[in-house]
Amino acid sequence: MNTFQEIDNTIKKYQKIIILRHQNPDPDALGSQGGLAVAIRQAYPDKEVLIGGQNSKGLIWLSEMQDIKGSDFEGSLVIVTDTANQPRVDDDRFNNGDFLIKIDHHPNDDSYGDMLYVDDGASSSSEIISDLIESSDEMKLSKEIAYYLYAGIVGDTGRFLYPATTSHTLQTAGKFLDLGLDTSSINQKMNEITLAQAKLQSEVFNVIKIDPSGAALVIIDKEMMSKIGLNQEQANSAVSTPGRLKEVTSWVEAVEKDDGTFRMHFRSQGPVINEIAKLHDGGGHPLASGANAKDRNEIDQIFKELIAAVNEYKLKEK
Ligand code: AMP
Repeated sequence: MNTFQEIDNTIKKYQKIIILRHQNPDPDALGSQGGLAVAIRQAYPDKEVLIGGQNSKGLIWLSEMQDIKGSDFEGSLVIVTDTANQPRVDDDRFNNGDFLIKIDHHPNDDSYGDMLYVDDGASSSSEIISDLIESSDEMKLSKEIAYYLYAGIVGDTGRFLYPATTSHTLQTAGKFLDLGLDTSSINQKMNEITLAQAKLQSEVFNVIKIDPSGAALVIIDKEMMSKIGLNQEQANSAVSTPGRLKEVTSWVEAVEKDDGTFRMHFRSQGPVINEIAKLHDGGGHPLASGANAKDRNEIDQIFKELIAAVNEYKLKEK
């Protein structure tokens, strides 16, 4: 594990810096990437700073990617934010630079990079980037940087709902407010869903299977998505929906992919679920993880494992 000082010194040394993050980016991936890019550009106007990966249609208001050529990697510093493991980096060329830094808040299952800073107690990678900037001699927080980082923190804490929210998280958000950031308009933007997404939420409540333990399963198949007129990415907006139900403690949402396999989204309000995700080609945080299921049999198996985890947790709680 390296220090902020070492990362800051490395940033100083490189003329060209490429910042990447994970595939299917969420606001924290884009916010930590974009916020760090703006911080470096503002502190060092002569450096060339590029942000890369696929654009996210739904989050284009937050950040838009740049075209990165193969030759851009030559002699560059590559920084990857919010990405626990190498296969999830949204650019296969991430190892082609001169030096690689990982900055993340997921459990450090894959310690890649020439330097790394991982704090799995931090609410978000955006919160870590804010601390990195605050500790730097050259970089300074600004309203523009705060825009990205606030969106990342709000995204990963569910607007300060989840237990990873600490007093430091709120102090960091407070600093952003002091910089004059219009947090309310970002909150509004992130709270917004389309009518189709609202219809999907109501479908989620129709099809949800709730076990007496408090474990729940939702399957969003292609038929449901096409009936409502949503694609897989848009369907992800319903992942947190079951958490509002009093009857539900932990849940898994299966979203069917084009090839008929399923992307699994695990969420929990106590029982640890990333160990189940790891058994099914996935991983993530103890209370928020992702995985893959090849068919409905595997979904049934996963639901059984979730029920067992919730029951075990309840026994320990007693
Ligand atoms: P998601 O359900 O896709 O929003 O993912 C929830 C969390 O689990 C995020 O923090 C992801 O970074 C992490 N995650 C999702 N899929 C995987 C995977 N295949 N491997 C490792 N971590 C994952």
